[in-house]
Amino acid sequence: READVATSIGDNSIASYDVEKVRKDFPILSQEVYGKPLVYLDNAASAQKPKVVIDAMCQNMETYYSNVHRGLHRLSQLSTDAFEAAREKAADFINAETSDEIVFLRGATEAINLVAWSYGRTFLKAGDEVLISEMEHHANIVPWQMLRDETGIELKVVPIDDDGNLSLETFSDCLSAKTRLVAITHISNALGTIVPLKDIIRLSHAAGAKVLVDGCQAGPHMKIDVRDLDVDFYCFSSHKVYGPTGIGVLYGKLDLLNAMPPHHGGGEMIDRVTFEMSTYKDAPHRFEPGTPAIIEAIGFGAAIDYVKALGQDRISAHEQGLTAYATERMLEIEGLRIIGQAQEKASIVSFVMDNAHAHDIGTIIDRAGVAVRAGHHCAQPLMDRFGVSATARASFGLYNTRAEVDALVAALHKVKELLG
Ligand code: PLP
Repeated sequence: READVATSIGDNSIASYDVEKVRKDFPILSQEVYGKPLVYLDNAASAQKPKVVIDAMCQNMETYYSNVHRGLHRLSQLSTDAFEAAREKAADFINAETSDEIVFLRGATEAINLVAWSYGRTFLKAGDEVLISEMEHHANIVPWQMLRDETGIELKVVPIDDDGNLSLETFSDCLSAKTRLVAITHISNALGTIVPLKDIIRLSHAAGAKVLVDGCQAGPHMKIDVRDLDVDFYCFSSHKVYGPTGIGVLYGKLDLLNAMPPHHGGGEMIDRVTFEMSTYKDAPHRFEPGTPAIIEAIGFGAAIDYVKALGQDRISAHEQGLTAYATERMLEIEGLRIIGQAQEKASIVSFVMDNAHAHDIGTIIDRAGVAVRAGHHCAQPLMDRFGVSATARASFGLYNTRAEVDALVAALHKVKELLG
């Protein structure tokens, strides 16, 4: 992939890549919708898949598919090796100490639910506080409300400022001797805010709390180092990192995972079963009962290889350049307001326009081939905070171009012409 290095754009200290060449790796991007080239700017919801991911999954199904961990036969060994290799890749991707700390689940939602159910019910009791932020995705709100209703824990919310920044001072003020767990996003899916995670973790630990990070939006945009962060739990989903749906990661420090009871029972997660009782395997297998997402894990491993080969620093620099350009051009449109202009921001631009509902924006620009998200982005409390029911959201991935930003801006001018 070094051959892809072209000229420097955006961050001048990081060599860029040939984005047109990269786009050819993604079969879906070459199509037209309504006779217009597809401009896919809904990456925060889910990212498209490179051919290497599709091929890795097909190759498994065509040549060596079998259930894993079960048979002694050749295909089962090959599938098991590929499945466990994907776990190693995921561990390496976030710099976990060992792949035993990587639990494969259906995605971030299941991961957070697992921690709330298993860690929460075992280690939290009535009166303990769980701290979340005002910009959490529903996946990092609802499981804690369910736990609260069951156990009597308190759920506290850290406010953000009008630009979407989460200040360390405000965060510290919300910590108390009763805080036992902080469950917080790394990057807001609705605002793009990058949270000052390392300091948050340091402060939380000093207050005696464990930290779970919802890393869904960070996975595709930046290098993650769970050891450097010293985070206790970290989760993300494959489908946002250019891999398939149906699989994601819960990272947990090994001693914590092994202290937690399994959330589901079944085959493959046990040491010994009698009719009287069962004993469980250590992590990660105690949390992976039944047949796992084998094909998806293999695709996920290929996606990780792809992202690493392209280079997370280069991806990040490319996306930052696009976001700055998009922000500048979008703000030239009269009556357009960007919701969330935090100092540290990933490639997500949420916006509203005078006289145009977010859904109308989404529908009109769809006819120009531009795909964005419109709605509450599974963050209704955050929408309430900003006094809007919905926003339109453009989110950029590693394959987006300046020409696509121009197409978005042209389509938004059309919205203004029609409704403004
Ligand atoms: N958290 C954040 C910040 C997200 O953006 C998402 C997905 O939109 C989720 C959690 C849920 O992820 P999944 O649907 O893959 O479980």
